[in-house]
Amino acid sequence: MESSLDIDKEKRVWDILETVSDPEIPVLSIVDLGIVRGIELMDEPTSLTISITPTYTGCPAMDMMAAHIRIALADAGFLKVQINQTLSPAWTTDWMSEAGKIKLKAYGIAAPVAKAFNKEYLEDLQMECPNCGSTQTKLISEFSSTACKALFQCKDCLEPFDYFKCH
Ligand SMILES: [Zn+2]
Repeated sequence: MESSLDIDKEKRVWDILETVSDPEIPVLSIVDLGIVRGIELMDEPTSLTISITPTYTGCPAMDMMAAHIRIALADAGFLKVQINQTLSPAWTTDWMSEAGKIKLKAYGIAAPVAKAFNKEYLEDLQMECPNCGSTQTKLISEFSSTACKALFQCKDCLEPFDYFKCH
């Protein structure tokens, strides 16, 4: 049975993880993204295990993210942190919080609308321009600044924008 002390501690860890942002989309925390799958408290007060599922297999941002998690937790006194990567089930945008999707849009990245993608799918996609709200958009590139994003352009205001396409 979990003691109330453990519940407090677990909440503290979640609060700390809320402050760790995604290296690629700094407005989103890793909790917003739904990357953190679980926290396991260990018998030793300063140690814990965190399970994370990367948004995109092979995202180079993953190592950086793990480093940021360690630094944030070490600041709070959690010195022995084990980070496990869970690859199955794969991350889907369904795990993103509603707050995360709203922040993503405010940041100028179209929020993900579906899980699967391929080039044909992206070309047919009716995107909403984060700049002017127009749905007259076209796919410029399957890959934008990172493999996780596709680049679109608005036909009305001509503003280019990223679409977060990971699954
Ligand atoms: Zn526009």
